Formats: sequence, structure tokens, C-alpha cells
Amino acid sequence: MFLTVTARFLVVLDADSTLIRNEVIELIADEAGRGAEVAAATEAAMRGETDFATSLRSRVGALTGVPTSAFARVLERIEPTPGVRELTAAVHERGGEVGVVSGGFHEILDTLAPTLGVDVWRANRLEVADGMLTGEVRGEIVDAEAKAESLAAWAAERGVPMQRTLAIGDGANDLKMIAAAGLGLAFNAKPRVRAEAPILIGDVDLAQVIPLLP
Ligand SMILES: [Mg+2]
Repeated sequence: MFLTVTARFLVVLDADSTLIRNEVIELIADEAGRGAEVAAATEAAMRGETDFATSLRSRVGALTGVPTSAFARVLERIEPTPGVRELTAAVHERGGEVGVVSGGFHEILDTLAPTLGVDVWRANRLEVADGMLTGEVRGEIVDAEAKAESLAAWAAERGVPMQRTLAIGDGANDLKMIAAAGLGLAFNAKPRVRAEAPILIGDVDLAQVIPLLP
């Protein structure tokens, strides 16, 4: 098998609280009047206190009945993390590519990711019936394992050795990809992630990653 190298290196980011300042599931839950409850459950999952998939199914259940027309309002409320466009531009200038793997949702990321210079992304899918969320997740859940698998698969597809991958995240479900990457970065992270990741970025500014690019 011939390996075609199509990128010099690969940077993979988490979405919620890393690529963007928000947790999208909380913004969607606001549309159901259940924002505070879902925010508390998300916080516990990101600290690694609950099983991610179990927590996600329960939190998505709280979104039942939200119309898909609410996604436009959710997108308007999203705040990209400072420095994100500088980072993705710097990656491209240096011949790298940017991936995002998210425990959040394709329904939002498919619109958002291209505007932030992201080349490839993977997330969960929300089940919809009659224009409303059913409260179920469609297909396989993107958990910590799936994040690490996506990093490895995207690197292999591009002929990028794992040593030339960077993974950036804030939550407990990012720890496997942070451990698998050549360079793992905790970004504005939860205590457990700060304790386990090799490199910490304390400020909420993704441009601080640029000097670490290969
Ligand atoms: Mg996150």
C-alpha cells in the first residue's frame, strides 16, 4: 500500500469550550427551558464524574420537543474562542490541517466549522421527527474513545505520523485523544485534564498554540 502524504501535521480540537466558548447542548436546552439543569449535568460530565455516553443520552433527552428552527438562534449565540481563526490560518500556512471532534452535534458544527477554518469534523447526530428533536441520539456516540479513534484515523488518511499530531481539549472526554497525540494540550481545562495533560494553556486564547506548531 502506498501512503500518500497530504498534510505535514494535524491539529485536532474539541468543540465546546475549546473551539468555541459555549457548550452547545446548554444553548439548545435553553430553548426547552432546561438550560440550567443541562449545564450542571454537562459540567459533571466534563469533570469526568459521570460516564459520558450515559450522561449525553440523559441530557439529549432534555432537548425533546425543541424545533430544528431553534438551531439558527443557537448558532447566533455561539462565541468562537479568541485566537481560533489565527490558529487555523497558521496551521494552513504551515501545511497542516485542522480537525474537530465533538461530543456535541453535527446539526450545529456543519454550519459553524467551515467558518472557522476547520477542514474535517465529527460529532453526534440528533434524531429529528416532524421538525422536532425526539430526545434521542442517532447512531454511535462520540465519546472519549471515538475522539482518540478520529484523531488516529484522520492522521492515517493524511499520511501524518502520530508524533506530528496535536490534540487540544478541556474536558475529561478529551483525555484519550490528548494522550494519543504527539502533543496533548489542556486548554482552559477542567482540573482532571490539567493534571493529566502534558501541556497547559491557561489563557482563553487559541493563538497561544501557534508557537507549538511543527
Ligand atoms: Mg469541551
